[in-house]
Amino acid sequence: MSMRVIFLGTAGSVPTQARSLPAVFLKRQNEQLMFDCGEGVQRQMVKAKVGFHKKMKIFISHMHGDHVLGLPGLLQTMALMDRQRKLEIYGPEGIKQFLEWVRESLQFGLTFPVEIHEVYDVGVICEEKDYTVEAARSNHVVSGFAYAFVEKPRPGKFYPEKARALGVPEGELWSKLQHGDKVKLSNGLVISPEAVLGLPRKGRKIVYTGDTRPFRGFAKFAAGADLVVHDSTFDDALGEKAELDGHSTPSQAAQQAKRAKAKKLVLTHISARYADAGLLLEQARKVFKNTVVAEDFMELELPLPHS
Ligand SMILES: [Zn+2]
Ligand SMILES: [Zn+2]
Repeated sequence: MSMRVIFLGTAGSVPTQARSLPAVFLKRQNEQLMFDCGEGVQRQMVKAKVGFHKKMKIFISHMHGDHVLGLPGLLQTMALMDRQRKLEIYGPEGIKQFLEWVRESLQFGLTFPVEIHEVYDVGVICEEKDYTVEAARSNHVVSGFAYAFVEKPRPGKFYPEKARALGVPEGELWSKLQHGDKVKLSNGLVISPEAVLGLPRKGRKIVYTGDTRPFRGFAKFAAGADLVVHDSTFDDALGEKAELDGHSTPSQAAQQAKRAKAKKLVLTHISARYADAGLLLEQARKVFKNTVVAEDFMELELPLPHS
């Protein structure tokens, strides 16, 4: 199943000509997940040609304007487009009240239900059949969370000869076993999927830090991630400012990715002072080679791992 990450907004704090405010979009086969929701996100979605009617969840890292002000506009656009399907929003304490206030003062009605989940603690905050989303506390100037999208392992490779040897007739029962379900044969024998499948295959993992200084426990939280999308607001020479404002520098982000043994690092939340982000890339690559700087509308395809 293909999975694609689209960077809808990659600026830090203020938008620039080239960068919109933070939003990282994860497009799966039948669902969309979005991490943070900067102003004007619905226009970025139009430009990226992603839909407004699909099953969707939004995860807000923290209650700073550049990360949440896109929500009211997005909800309103969706209502004008007559969205019917439920929208789920996860975020720190305060997100519910914020959305209620906006809806009350702007008096806009919605055509679809909005389910708001305030996140109070770390760990699994959302569980679906084939993935979970986990939260870890970030280290910014206000409390907030980093999120990890973790795909569950997929059933291993199917061996038809093993199924035949065990007397499982080809057809529906094979398909059940391939999906990791037990089956019962007409003679009463129960066949477990492990008997005909290879070892489970690893799922994919994507970590989004939101605004943060490097934080403790990151290596474990992001361990083995296919993709780490990390705050990299200021370059290494502005380390003190990054510390003061609760952000990270490229080499800090790179060290975190390295410690977590991540496969790829994307730097984002780029300060408006960098018209050219080459400096940030150079600093990060000294520590972690497989780094890129996010650009608006950059897309990364995440193929299924083979083993
Ligand atoms: Zn921010
Ligand atoms: Zn912030």
